[in-house]
Amino acid sequence: MKTSEDNFSYSVDKFADLQILRYRVHGFDSLTLKQKELIYYLSEAALHGRDILFDQNGKYNLKIRRMLEAVYSGYEGDRNDTEFQALEVYLKRVWFSSGIHHHYSTDKFIPGFTVDFLRNAVMGLDKSQLPLSEGETVAGLCNELFPVIFDPQIMPKRVNQADGEDLLLTSASNYYVGVTQQEAEDFYSAMKSPEDETPVMYGMNSRLEKKDGEITEVVWKLDGEYGKAIGKIVYWLEKALEVAENDHQKEVIRLLIEFYRTGDLKIFDDYSICWLKDTESRIDFVNGFIESYGDPLGMKASWESIVNFKDLEATHRTEVLSGNAQWFEDNSPVSPQFKKAEVKGVSAKVITAAILAGDLYPASAIGINLPNSNWIRSVHGSKSVTIGNLTDAYNKAAKGNGFRDEFVYGEYEKQLLDKYADITGDLHTDLHECLGHGSGKLLPGVDPDALKAYGATIEEARADLFGLYYIPDEKMVELGLTPDSEAYKAEYYSYMMNGLLTQLVRIEPGCCIEESHMRNRQLIAAWALEHGAADGVAELVKRNGKTYVVINDYEKLRSLFGRLLAEIQRIKSEGDYEAARELVEKYAVKVNPALHAEILERYKALNLAPYKGFVNPVYSVVTDNDNNITDIKIDYSEGYTEQMLRYSRDYSNL
Ligand code: ZN
Repeated sequence: MKTSEDNFSYSVDKFADLQILRYRVHGFDSLTLKQKELIYYLSEAALHGRDILFDQNGKYNLKIRRMLEAVYSGYEGDRNDTEFQALEVYLKRVWFSSGIHHHYSTDKFIPGFTVDFLRNAVMGLDKSQLPLSEGETVAGLCNELFPVIFDPQIMPKRVNQADGEDLLLTSASNYYVGVTQQEAEDFYSAMKSPEDETPVMYGMNSRLEKKDGEITEVVWKLDGEYGKAIGKIVYWLEKALEVAENDHQKEVIRLLIEFYRTGDLKIFDDYSICWLKDTESRIDFVNGFIESYGDPLGMKASWESIVNFKDLEATHRTEVLSGNAQWFEDNSPVSPQFKKAEVKGVSAKVITAAILAGDLYPASAIGINLPNSNWIRSVHGSKSVTIGNLTDAYNKAAKGNGFRDEFVYGEYEKQLLDKYADITGDLHTDLHECLGHGSGKLLPGVDPDALKAYGATIEEARADLFGLYYIPDEKMVELGLTPDSEAYKAEYYSYMMNGLLTQLVRIEPGCCIEESHMRNRQLIAAWALEHGAADGVAELVKRNGKTYVVINDYEKLRSLFGRLLAEIQRIKSEGDYEAARELVEKYAVKVNPALHAEILERYKALNLAPYKGFVNPVYSVVTDNDNNITDIKIDYSEGYTEQMLRYSRDYSNL
C-alpha cells in the first residue's frame, strides 16, 4: 500500500491552458460494503447526466463532440500531423468545457486546424461512424456544423454579460430559443408574486422557447426534455434507495426522484430542505439542476453532480476549533468592548469527493454552499462543505512544478513549506471560516453596512488576521492541530510571499487589485512589511534582479498581526468608514508596476497551466458465483482521453 501512495501520479495531462489532475479517495477502503455500494450507485447516477450539460451549453455541442470523436478514433492519416494534433487539443478542450466555449471566459475556441482538413477527415470516415440525423448526408452534416466551429461571428460567446445588449439573443447557451431578454423577463415576472414569502426558483429546470409566436417552458423531467438521461439517473437513484444509510437519507433520495419525475419546483424545495437537514449521514451527494452561472439572467440551472463522504479526521479538526470558540474569543488581542460575551463556532464539514460530474467535472469547486434558494437559506440555513481531497491533489500536484523554487527565498524557507505548508494552509482556512468570521461584535447602533464598498475587504482581513494571530499559539499544539511550535512559520512565509508578490500573477498588466480576498491579503502583508520595517521584521530583497520576501523575526510578525487585528476589529465594531477607506486605499489596491511586470515574467517562464480539472477514479463491482456483490474496487489508472471516450460510449444518453 505504501508504494502505491508513493507512486501515485497527481498530474495526468496538460494541453492548451489546462492541466488535468487525479484525486485520491482517501478512506474509501475503510467504508462498509453497503456504503461503497451506495457510492457506486450514486456515481452511476452522476455519470449518466453527462450529456445534459453539453446540450445546455449549446445546441450543437453533442453533435460536434460526436463528429470529432469519430474523427479522432477513425482517422487513418498521419496522427503526428500538426493539423491532427490541433484537432486532438480542440477535442480535449471540448470535453473539458462540455462544449465549444471556454469554461471560464465562455469565449468560443479558435480551432488550430483548417476547414479542409476537417472536411477531408470527416469524408474519409464510414458513414455509420458519424452522428447523422435522419436522412442527413455527410455534406449536410459538414454544412450544419462547420460554420459553428469555424466562423468567429457565429455563437461567439456562451454567456454574454455586456451591458446594453440583448443578453439572451447574444448568448450561445441553449436556455432560451427565439426569446428576447425582455420577453423572458416579462414571462417570469408575471409568475412571481411579491406576497409570496416562499417562492420556488422559477424557470430553473426548463428551456424557454418561442414557437409560432407563443412562449412556453420545455421542462427537463422524466417524461419531458432530457428524459432519456433522467431515466437512467432515476434508475440508479432507485438502486441507491435500497442501500441508503438511514430513513432521513431515504427521504432525500425519494424526494429527488419525485422531482425528476414531475419537474415540480415545489418538490425541489422540499428536497432541498430535507437535504440540508441531513447532517448525520456519512455519505452525501448533489445530483440535479443547481447553479445558474451559465444563464445571463441567472435563472436556468446547469446540471451537476458530486458524490462524497465525510472526512472524519479533518471534520474533527473543525469541531475542535468550534468546541473551543469561547477560549479563542476571550484570548484575542481585540479590545474587550468589541468581543462577543458568547460566541459559537461554525463547524464546517470536510468531505472527500468520490465522483465529479456535469458542471463540477473536470473543473470543480473546492467548497460548496447549498441550497441556492434565498428563502430556504434564511429560514432553514444551508450546508457548507470543503472538499479536502481536491485541495490535497492541487497541493500535491504543485510540488515540483518549479513555483516554490522560483519564488521562495532560500533553503530554510523551502524546507519549512515542504514540511508544514499543507497542514498550516488548511488550518488557516479552518480558523478563518470556523472562528474568524464569527468573532467580535458591532457596537450598539452601528450599521452593519457602514463600511460600504470597503466592508468585504475589511471583513476578510479580520477573519484572516484572526487565523494568523492564532496559528503560532501554543494552544494549537496543545489541541493537536499543529505538530510543533515551528509549524506556523510556513503559513507566515507563504502568506507574506503571496500577499506581496505571487498573487499578482492573477492581475493583468496595468490593472489594480479589485477582488476583496486579494485586497485583504495585500493589505495585511503590506501593512506588516511597513510597520515592521524599523525593526527589520520582514523585507523585500533583490537577488540577481529577482525580488524575494525575507522574514527575519517571526515572533514580532505575530505581534504586528495582533495589532492590526485589534485595529481592524475596532474599525468594524465602530463602523469607522474613513479608517477603512484609508487602510484599503493605502495598502490593498495599488500595484507597483515594475514589481508586477517582474512577477508576471517569472511566472510565465514556469509555463504553468492557469486552469485545472480532474479525472475521476473508476469503480467496479466484484461479485461472487451467485452474483452477490462482495466488494467495490477503486482504480486510478485511467487517463483523460480514455475516460472521456469511455464516458461518451457508456453514458451517452441524449
Ligand atoms: Zn472569508
